Amino acid sequence: MDDQTQTLLQRLPSVDRLLDSARHSETLRQAPHSVLRNAARTALEALRHQLLQDKASLDVADVSEAAVLQRIEVLVKAALQPNLRQTVNATGIVIHTNLGRSLLCQDAIDNLTLIASRYSNLEFNLDEGRRGSRYSAVENLLCDITGAEAGLVVNNNAGAVLIALETMAKDREVIVSRGELVEIGGAFRIPDVMSKSGALLKEVGTTNRTHLKDYAAALGDRTALLLKVHQSNFAITGFTKEVSLKELVDFGGQHDVPVMEDLGSGTFVDFRRYGLPWEPTVQESVASGADIVTFSGDKLLGGPQAGIIVGKRTYLDAIKKNPINRALRIDKLTLAALESTLRLYREESRAVANIPTLQMMMTPDTVLAQRADRLYTGLQGIGDPRLVFERNQLQSRIGGGSLPLLELPSHGVAVTAPDGSLQRVETFLRQHVPPVIGRIEKDRFMMDVRTLRDDDLPHIEKAFRRMLKKESL
Ligand SMILES: *Cc1c(COP(=O)(O)O)cnc(C)c1O
Repeated sequence: MDDQTQTLLQRLPSVDRLLDSARHSETLRQAPHSVLRNAARTALEALRHQLLQDKASLDVADVSEAAVLQRIEVLVKAALQPNLRQTVNATGIVIHTNLGRSLLCQDAIDNLTLIASRYSNLEFNLDEGRRGSRYSAVENLLCDITGAEAGLVVNNNAGAVLIALETMAKDREVIVSRGELVEIGGAFRIPDVMSKSGALLKEVGTTNRTHLKDYAAALGDRTALLLKVHQSNFAITGFTKEVSLKELVDFGGQHDVPVMEDLGSGTFVDFRRYGLPWEPTVQESVASGADIVTFSGDKLLGGPQAGIIVGKRTYLDAIKKNPINRALRIDKLTLAALESTLRLYREESRAVANIPTLQMMMTPDTVLAQRADRLYTGLQGIGDPRLVFERNQLQSRIGGGSLPLLELPSHGVAVTAPDGSLQRVETFLRQHVPPVIGRIEKDRFMMDVRTLRDDDLPHIEKAFRRMLKKESL
C-alpha cells in the first residue's frame, strides 16, 4: 500500500462520527438507526474497497465527511423504499406473472380494505351462531356462476391440482395425454406435481395425437382418474388429434372412472362474443360433465391469486376433508377480493366493464390510440434531441399462459437513442421509482399503452425527464 492510499484510508471518517453528523440531515435523521448504521458501514466498506483496488479513482474530496454522508443518503433512501413496489407495466402483456398478473376491480379493493380493518364472520355462521366454513362466502357464488354442485378455493391453481390429485389418486394411476404434460412458468410441471401428490402418471398417446383407444389401452384396476390439462402457454398445430373432455367424460362414465380437467387460466366469459378467440369456459367444462375442474383466480378471471376447484359434491367433500386443505387455505383478504370479483360475474356485462384484466383485453382501438397520442405528446414535449419518440402500432399479448397465439393490435410509443445506449434507457426506467417496464425490440424501447392506467402516463413522462436531466445517454 502506498502513502497516498494510506492517507486517504486514514482520512475516512469513523462510523460514530458519521452517525453523529447524520443528525443534521433531514433525510438521515428520520431513518431508523439500524438502517443508518448499516448504510454508514456499507458506504465506508465500499470506499475502502475502491481505494485498495483502484486508488486513482478517488481523491481527498471523496473521503471527506460530506462526501461520505452523501453516499449514505443515497443508500438510506434506497433502503427506505418498499421492496414490493408499484410498477408501470408498459409491456402490453396483460396477465404478466412477473408484474403481479391481474389488477383487482374496485369492488374487490374496497371489500378487502374493509375486511382487513374490521373483524368479520370469516369462520362464523351468523344464522346459527356457531363455527362456520371460510369457503361459504364464495361456494354458492361459484356454483351459481358455473353450474357446479360444489366448490372450494385454495392458495393457487398449482395447489388446487396438487390437492385434487392427492385426494383422488394417491398411490394409484392417473391417465394423461402426452400432448398435455405441460410446464407452466415458475416450475409448475404436470409430471412433477403428479409425483409430489403421490399419484402415478400413466402417459398415453403421442405429443401431437392421442386417441380414445390410447386411454382405453391404459385403463386398468389401478386407474383412479382421467386427467385433461389445458395446454395454456403453447399450441400444437398441424397433424393433431386430442380427445375432447366430453368424450373423456363418456368414456370415464362407462368405466366408473372420474374425470378431472385442469383448465389453467379458467374464464367464465365466452370471448367469441367480444371478437376474441374461444377459450374453454368453466361453465362448458362443468356442463360437459367433468367431475373436477381447477383454474386460477388471477389469470383470465381477473381476481386475486387463488386456485379454484369446482365439481361434483362427493369429490369436493373428499378434497375439503384432506388435511392438505388446511396448508393451502386462502386468507381472508383473498377471500374478500375473490367474493367481490365473483359477484360481478353474476352479470357478465358488469364483469367486463369493471374487471381490469377483461377491460384491458377489450379496450377499443380508438381508446388505445388516444392514450398513445397523449403519451407521445407528453414525451415529445420534453424536447430533448438525444431521444427520438415515435408513435407506433404494436401487438399486445394476453400472457399468463392464456391464448398464447393471440396478438392484439395495439398502440404505443417507441424510443430510440441515436447517439446513446438504449440499454441505459431501459435500465434507468427499470430502476426509476416507480419502475417503468417496457421491452426492447428491433433497437427500439417499446411502450404499449394497453396495460397502462391513466395515472401511469405522468409517471412515465417524469421518468424520462429525470433521465434526461441526469444521464449522459
Ligand atoms: C397457470 C396454470 C397452473 C398454475 O396456476 P397458478 O394459479 O399459477 O398456481 C396450473 N395449470 C395450468 C394448466 C396453468 O395454466
